[in-house]
Amino acid sequence: MVASVLLEIKAKSVDKTFDYKIPEFLKETLKVGMRVSIPFGAQKLQGYVLEIKQEKSVNYELKEIIEQLDDEVILNKELLQIGNHIKELTLSSLSSAYNTMLPSALKAKKNNKASKKYESYLYLNHSLEESYALCKNEIQKELISLFESSGTISKKEANNISLSAVKTLLKKEIIFEKQEECYRLQIGLEELDQKKELTEEQKNAYEEIIKRKEEEITFLLHGVTGSGKTEIYMQVIEKVIEEKKQALVLVPEISLTPQFVQNFTKRFGSHIAVLHSGLSIGEKYDEWRKIMHGNSNIVIGARSAIFAPLKNIGIIIIDECHSDSYKQENNPKYHVFDIAQFRSHYHKCPIILGSATPTLEIMARAKKGLFKLLTLKKRAQNNSLPTCLLVDSKEEVKKGNSILSEILEQKIKDRLEKQEQVMILLNRRGHSTLIQCSACGFVYKCPYCDITLTFHKSTKNLRCHYCGYTKYLDNRCPECKEEALNYYGLGTEKLENILNEKFPTANIVRMDTDTTSKKGSLEKMMKSFQEKKYDILIGTQMISKGLDFPSVTLVGILNADITLNIPDFRSSEKTFALLYQASGRAGRSKIPGEVVIETFNPDNKVLKLVQNQDYYGFYHYEMQIRKLLKYPPFYYIAHLIIKSRDYEFAKEEAKKTSEFLKKNVEETTIVLGPTIANMFRVNNVYHFEIMIKYRFDDKLKTILKELDSMFLINRKVELEIDLNY
Ligand code: ADP
Ligand code: ZN
Repeated sequence: MVASVLLEIKAKSVDKTFDYKIPEFLKETLKVGMRVSIPFGAQKLQGYVLEIKQEKSVNYELKEIIEQLDDEVILNKELLQIGNHIKELTLSSLSSAYNTMLPSALKAKKNNKASKKYESYLYLNHSLEESYALCKNEIQKELISLFESSGTISKKEANNISLSAVKTLLKKEIIFEKQEECYRLQIGLEELDQKKELTEEQKNAYEEIIKRKEEEITFLLHGVTGSGKTEIYMQVIEKVIEEKKQALVLVPEISLTPQFVQNFTKRFGSHIAVLHSGLSIGEKYDEWRKIMHGNSNIVIGARSAIFAPLKNIGIIIIDECHSDSYKQENNPKYHVFDIAQFRSHYHKCPIILGSATPTLEIMARAKKGLFKLLTLKKRAQNNSLPTCLLVDSKEEVKKGNSILSEILEQKIKDRLEKQEQVMILLNRRGHSTLIQCSACGFVYKCPYCDITLTFHKSTKNLRCHYCGYTKYLDNRCPECKEEALNYYGLGTEKLENILNEKFPTANIVRMDTDTTSKKGSLEKMMKSFQEKKYDILIGTQMISKGLDFPSVTLVGILNADITLNIPDFRSSEKTFALLYQASGRAGRSKIPGEVVIETFNPDNKVLKLVQNQDYYGFYHYEMQIRKLLKYPPFYYIAHLIIKSRDYEFAKEEAKKTSEFLKKNVEETTIVLGPTIANMFRVNNVYHFEIMIKYRFDDKLKTILKELDSMFLINRKVELEIDLNY
């Protein structure tokens, strides 16, 4: 017998299967969808078995498989197909698709190794009564009583009661011990919560979904912040589970939404598997196996959880579906929706996309009838949306208030007096973003990238936010040696210092990637804030997502212009979503909330629409612009990056690529560029970009594939293709 094996190498040049002979000792056990190790030239490599057949298809002697690496199938029929789908959608290699789909513990990389974890369990050698009779004292009897309910207990647990009693019982062979596979991650079991009675709006949405629960259909659940989307998800899931099916729930980044998982565990108990980047490799592997073995009927996870090996999916939920974390930034550049649609088709189950600020692409599809639109206009607890104030920072600067406007400062004082909580969003971490010498004008820049270095005060160093380069900051200017450095540009760290000076009695906590990098620290901060151990929470965009803190009655947004000024056709949309979501954190219970937005452009249309919490106003306004400028959802965009360490070479290749495209694409397709990319030089690699706008172009994919293979030959330059831009 012969196995066709796909090598686990990302290189596109070897992205095909090779035949290997299946040795006698593996004939019974080896199955399609398992990994094996095989000889390849002089190397020993790993690969996936994609086919098992009787005869070889080549006329030379085959080498033998060395070893079978899995004792169960890790890529079932559905997952194997998904890999092919990703390859077709993204033009990536099949091997890199499977690599993305599997947990790290199952990948060939050296330091990824995580083995199954075992724990000792104790069992009785005799019946319960006999065991009691054999006991010498009360403690031993107490231990035996623990076996009554399930017949076994963990040795660790037993040792906690009495180490010596366990020893004695083992020695006398009244009990024996056995090693059993266990899962590392233990979800703390909460007291179970009752389900809530749905509001009229919630009920309508719920019933629409349930009516069509056996169909391949996508719902867009468009609900204002606090409208109770989660409650709808949970009740739909309850129904799905009753029918012995499973639920797949995606959230942008779980570690940012511990409350979300908490709500689920409170409702459904322990049969939940959690998958996200905050877990160790071993923990992820365990969760993955729990799902594989049918021990979880609800999976909650970030993007890659869409590949969870569930066998009977009844509902796929994508919460905060506008989030750009659902698109993978490196290869394969897949979008989670495409995989969800594949699985919805495969399992004949609905998808729910939930958001208060759906992207234009999503809303346009709903308006066209491709998605079924469900709307929640009111907050679930019937509280009103917050009122919102725009403050002109230019006027404030004139008055000498360079960071906090007078009105925001007043309002913070007021909330502190009332013992209500405040959240402040500033979407830039670090202390100062520009360090300049006032004597000679010198500015600190990254030597490898085109960006200024950010000063981080707590570590006293300068850091590049692109490549991670760090440098100790001396008080003297490296050029003119004067002690005249000025610190410009406000980051969260400086803001924290300033607020501490202004409100010395307030407890302030800062949440950004610098303060939350340690495992578990974020959860701790959130919990403390929820318990009102802090009065003010400062943070970057990570605090704008899905958090539900009832005592927050004031949200301040500083320098709202930061995201607005990013050169990207989606910057308005991103700004609108960020600020709208952040505003939505205010006034989520009885006391009405207030939002203060500080900006240098108070007349900006997008900010005005945020102020009025007017999603549809934004939608119509921005759709006009997109139409005029031929951007999505009116055109699709394919985006190419050509990069090389050699500037002239990259430029030349980019030019040739663009010319090749212009010659070959359909007439209605627009090829723009090459231009230098937003992040032009990163780590000394130069980036050029080409943008292709198209509506109908059957040839384009073939052309891009051809282009891709031409670049494969040249090692000096690299081409990245993003078909889902
Ligand atoms: P969203 O995700 O839509 O922003 P949430 O799901 O966080 O909103 O719900 C907002 C708040 O309303 C939560 O505290 C939730 O417990 C509460 N809630 C949701 N549905 C109901 C309901 N039917 N009755 C009472 N409270 C509800
Ligand atoms: Zn750099």
